[in-house]
Amino acid sequence: MATIKTNCAIIGGGPAGYTAAIYASRANLAPLLIEGMQPGGQLTTTTEVENFPGYPEGISGPQMMEDIRLQAQRFGADIRLGVVTSVDFSKQPYTINLGNSEVIEAKTVIIATGANARYLGLPDEQRYMGMGVSACATCDGFFYRNRNVAVVGGGDTACEEAAYLASLANKVYLIVRKPFLRASKVMQERVLSNPKIEVLFNCNTIGLFGEDVVEGAKIVENKGTGNEREFEIQIDGFFLAIGHTPNTALFKGQVELDAEGYIIVKSPSTATNIPGVFAAGDVADPFYRQAINAAAAGCRAAMDADRYLIDR
Ligand code: NDP
Repeated sequence: MATIKTNCAIIGGGPAGYTAAIYASRANLAPLLIEGMQPGGQLTTTTEVENFPGYPEGISGPQMMEDIRLQAQRFGADIRLGVVTSVDFSKQPYTINLGNSEVIEAKTVIIATGANARYLGLPDEQRYMGMGVSACATCDGFFYRNRNVAVVGGGDTACEEAAYLASLANKVYLIVRKPFLRASKVMQERVLSNPKIEVLFNCNTIGLFGEDVVEGAKIVENKGTGNEREFEIQIDGFFLAIGHTPNTALFKGQVELDAEGYIIVKSPSTATNIPGVFAAGDVADPFYRQAINAAAAGCRAAMDADRYLIDR
């Protein structure tokens, strides 16, 4: 079994992890970053990124991630593909076990494992991914100016995304499986009073259709009741807003998590309940979920790790 020692191990290759690697390398921590099965993280599943400062013409998600990764390597970050199978944060140095039987011993750890948007599980979501299906209105809404779109979900995210899309799109359907919205009162009012938003209560999506891109959705209303009815809506964009799942299963029982499974950090620092273990990006952020915020948190995590080592 090979053991690799490092001052700073970074788990996760997305904007948070790569940015942490840039800052940690430049602070001479010689970080080791383990990128998982999807190097580049969620942004590799988007097409164009138009809201990250510094790219006036926009940039593809995978290209942006590759650029940040190269920037980290330029300063000496050791970036390796690997699957972390378990961690032990009970004593220093912390150990991170990799599937190939290598073990990392780290004085500090930055967790940047991200979160995954939840999908309904329809085969059509995969078929039209990036061709009308999206889980981020802030990222992709701009492509649907003056078009018709649908948002699925009844929580704060769905209402916020529906309101945001209504400022760009011609019409927004909000597809809610229950007869009520779960969102906060203020968000409910914002949605219900918006003439561009039509809320379809008691409705579930059963499929999407379109030649190459999304052109519509098949909906079932009052499923399983005597009033069940199927109908179609004509839409160009289908946005999922049914929650995210933070990738924290590995850390359960060691790192303090909130009720939704997000890592709790002592904001504005990125410190977790374990000294020397920091968290950055979507794994600790149920609210903003933007690459720019993840990158900023990655920067803070590297600075926090550096200060922690200096203090010791
Ligand atoms: P939530 O878990 O609050 O809501 C998820 C929504 O998706 C619910 O309406 C749920 O329906 C629906 N849903 C889940 N699975 C399915 C499915 N398979 N089919 C159809 N609908 C489904 O997630 P959010 O992302 O909205 O919010 C997460 C947290 O972040 C919350 O605490 C929220 O308050 C907070 N937040 C706060 C914001 C703010 O303050 N500005 C902005 C955004 C989020 P059902 O109700 O039937 O379970």
